[in-house]
Amino acid sequence: MKKTSLLTVLLLTGMVSFAQTPDEQNLKSIYKAALTQSKCYTWLEYLSNDIGGRLSGTKNAADAVQYTKNQLESIGLDRVYLQEVMVPHWVRGEKETAYILDNKVKTVVPITALGGSIATPKTGITAEVIEVKGIKELNELGDKVKGKIVFFNRPMDPENVETFKSYGGCVDQRYAGAKEAAKFGAVGTIVRSMNLRLDDYPHTGAQSYGDLPKSEYIPTAAISTNGAELLSKSLKKNPSLKFYFKQSCEQLPDVLSHNVIGEIKGTEHPENIMIVGGHLDSWDLADGSHDDGAGVVQSMEVVRILKNLGYKPKNTIRVVLFMNEENGGRGGAMYEEMAQKNKENHIFALESDSGGFSPRGFSFETDDENFKKIDNYKGLFEPYLIHSFVKGHSGSDIGHLTSAKPLVKAGLKPDSQRYFDYHHAANDKFDAINKRELELGAATMASLVYLIDQNGILTK
Ligand SMILES: [Zn+2]
Repeated sequence: MKKTSLLTVLLLTGMVSFAQTPDEQNLKSIYKAALTQSKCYTWLEYLSNDIGGRLSGTKNAADAVQYTKNQLESIGLDRVYLQEVMVPHWVRGEKETAYILDNKVKTVVPITALGGSIATPKTGITAEVIEVKGIKELNELGDKVKGKIVFFNRPMDPENVETFKSYGGCVDQRYAGAKEAAKFGAVGTIVRSMNLRLDDYPHTGAQSYGDLPKSEYIPTAAISTNGAELLSKSLKKNPSLKFYFKQSCEQLPDVLSHNVIGEIKGTEHPENIMIVGGHLDSWDLADGSHDDGAGVVQSMEVVRILKNLGYKPKNTIRVVLFMNEENGGRGGAMYEEMAQKNKENHIFALESDSGGFSPRGFSFETDDENFKKIDNYKGLFEPYLIHSFVKGHSGSDIGHLTSAKPLVKAGLKPDSQRYFDYHHAANDKFDAINKRELELGAATMASLVYLIDQNGILTK
């Protein structure tokens, strides 16, 4: 279909002025469709409230696969299918308990086991605590942490306006803290939650023991930011206070699960594939509405909008709902493995995995020439207050896509100020979603997909 076909529809309905270019008009119709007739909010309501948290390997995750597959089928795409992938199955068990024990006074603090952690002994662990600001300080202490609980308390840096930068600046203590502390004989680790706000929600997230022998694993949990402040203050007054925690999480055998895929066949270059996606799994403490229910329904909305507007893409446009981003990345890895096996030619990938907040732009992983070309589209987004086109990380699921060259990868960049209030915590629920902000994100994604489909990418 030519660029003008959406325009023709709008001309016939008398909705446009003649001064606008076809691209301007088509973006306008995409935004209008998203803001007036979207389904993404209704889809997310079902995923969040009727299905709930979707940790890999659980029944909820399997239900989410079935639900999104059915919904994609109802859109009338050319093809909808599942891609098999084996995923880890970690279960939290009973709710964790923890308290500070200071001169026989017990003060309960909120903790949550980190994903992949082992349980404590049934009676819990009680030990003295050593506070550190990170792995470097831990290494300097060395054997002094033997028999103790290491408390990683480096906060997210408030100076960065881009909060993902602050997250990246301290997530190593969550991901690798236990592994590093175990090497020196620590009996457990407690990590300050990755959250800029002071509140009572502990935030879970993936951690890894790396290549440690199983016999050396130690239990690890996150503590709320208020809990971390209290523990730190209490330690200053009484360095020999003790900390107690108990958790019963467990790693079960891997489970068969699926990526969910739907596509509209390209009319000129069906062999060129453009993908848009998010991850279907979420942590178990809440509904995962922002992380990443939002990205899932926005990606589904992209293909629904284009289909409903009667858009016939030049290239094949594919929505991919990845499984197991949170604690393994197996869905992304399997997608790439199959792409290589089937000799697929991906030219573009877009991921939404930064929350359902007001969109501000995109970050791109591509060469200078393609970035320059795409940067020229920025003006088209101005009426929608989208202004930030930068080079940077695109998304962890599409991060696995490396076979196709050249490939333009992009991540939707919403306003990030509140994202870490909810990320991996018990408040990442449907009521934290704003319908219009979610829809604006979907429209922004659909617009970029449309522009890249129309104008292609540069190949050498
Ligand atoms: Zn995510």
